[in-house]
Amino acid sequence: MLGQMMNYPLTIGSLVDHAARYHAGTEIVSVNTSGDVEMTDWGRVGANSHQLGDALSKLGLDPQARCATIAWNNRRHLEIYFGVSGAGFVCHTINPRLFPEQLIYIINHAEDRVLFIDRTFVPLVKAIRDKIPGVAHIVLMEGRDDTLAAEIDGLQFYDELIATGAPTFDWPDFDENTASSLCYTSGTTGNPKGVLYSHRSTVLHAFASNTRDCIGYSARDVVLPVVPMFHVNAWGTPYACAQVGARMVLPGPGLDGPSLVRLIDTYRVNIALGVPTIWLGLLGEAKASGSDLASLERTVVGGSACPPSMITAFREQYGVELIHAWGMTEMSPLGTSNQPLAKHTDLPIADQHALRENQGRAPWGVELEIIDDAGQALPHDGEAQGALMVRGHWILDSYFQKTTDETLTNGWFDTGDVATIDADGYLSIKDRSKDIIKSGGEWISSVDLENIAIAHPALADAAVIGAQHEKWDERPVLIAVAAEGQSPTQEEVLSIFDGKIAKWQVPDMVVFTDALPRNATGKVLKRNLRDDFGQVLLG
Ligand code: ADP
Repeated sequence: MLGQMMNYPLTIGSLVDHAARYHAGTEIVSVNTSGDVEMTDWGRVGANSHQLGDALSKLGLDPQARCATIAWNNRRHLEIYFGVSGAGFVCHTINPRLFPEQLIYIINHAEDRVLFIDRTFVPLVKAIRDKIPGVAHIVLMEGRDDTLAAEIDGLQFYDELIATGAPTFDWPDFDENTASSLCYTSGTTGNPKGVLYSHRSTVLHAFASNTRDCIGYSARDVVLPVVPMFHVNAWGTPYACAQVGARMVLPGPGLDGPSLVRLIDTYRVNIALGVPTIWLGLLGEAKASGSDLASLERTVVGGSACPPSMITAFREQYGVELIHAWGMTEMSPLGTSNQPLAKHTDLPIADQHALRENQGRAPWGVELEIIDDAGQALPHDGEAQGALMVRGHWILDSYFQKTTDETLTNGWFDTGDVATIDADGYLSIKDRSKDIIKSGGEWISSVDLENIAIAHPALADAAVIGAQHEKWDERPVLIAVAAEGQSPTQEEVLSIFDGKIAKWQVPDMVVFTDALPRNATGKVLKRNLRDDFGQVLLG
């Protein structure tokens, strides 16, 4: 017997329709590429996304044709998110920080037909235009500009394109498992791989984000996604905000500390999301400018391990709660977020704070497991470290144009992370499995060492690698960037580990460098560091 309830597909178009119907007047603040601030609202974003959907349909694209973007966080990008997916096409967001060869590979592999670009990326696209012949339409995300029209043959303009569509256009009907959007992993090794999300997975992910123990946006919130819309769909923020009609502040290209402090203070932002490096810039500027970030209540930090010293700085200096979250492109990206349990509220305050440092626990919809080399499940005791496996409603089954058989192990996806899980289900990421340091049969977490090192006031940045060692196979070496005007010695830096970890885990050496190499999503490129410094301990 089946239940006798209405059965509508879970679709992305329905999210923006809800926002436009019940939160039409809720403002969206958009910093355009020129730096101008433009005000719109959910009503206009909804209408424009329908117009865009109609205009794209009139281009005669096949269903699920890929429409790509190379763009900052702004209101036209938001309209593209909903208009492309709502009309049954696939929104493929591309990270402009990739190398040109990777951009060409991704655009051709995805078989993109339409490419929406911001003004910033005209030279980039012009340079690769003849290598991406499958792209039939290149659309500048602005009104007509005759100077730029001369730059790329056949360049179209967003405002003119949507004028060919009607705001009364109805989204077509399709199955909720239809593909909706596509993101590629940054591909630190080998070619990037595509993760193809569905309408259903995206809506369920938005629901999970909107539970109180995850992020829990509301119609009363002002949300600043600093995480780019080309990085795992800005962690799903546009969808989750549309679902509840939250006010959004889209920061455009300026992600530096001064720009962010200005936006937070001017538009009374209370929730902001981004990777740790972004918040270092923000904290630095808030201190320099004397802003007390008065409106800010919560920051969501993920993408790389968040150093505990940053959690403390937000809490103690600005009264801001930092929510440490973990996830990956293959997980849409939300895997866990750190929120306390009822029993934690009676603990001494210092213990409560310490519990907020790890990556937190899974919401409904995500299951976590850790396994050893033989594939056996390990105890959830907060001690045993193993390969972190996941499964759930918004986790990939197979990579774009590949089959499941190659991707999953007994129905679980191997995250490539090494972690512990405690009895309450709290996850602590120890390392990427390829970065963990294997010293004489024992494992040393580079993340644990980095978290301690980065708290040193004389250091601006730090990373730890396993360097080859004649006796121990590998030993930790700290690669450190001194803070401006500081020149600490090796002994001074290493003294920070005293009493914080076992002596055998303390790095053997500190190498000072000017800057750490990072990939397109801001993660430290440990492979490059190993190439450069992996042999410093050999005689
Ligand atoms: P990539 O495209 O580089 O794989 P992702 O954004 O998908 O980029 O990165 C996912 C990886 O980032 C995770 O597997 C994990 O190693 C790391 N990561 C994400 N969030 C955290 C966090 N809060 N703490 C530690 N590592 C994290």
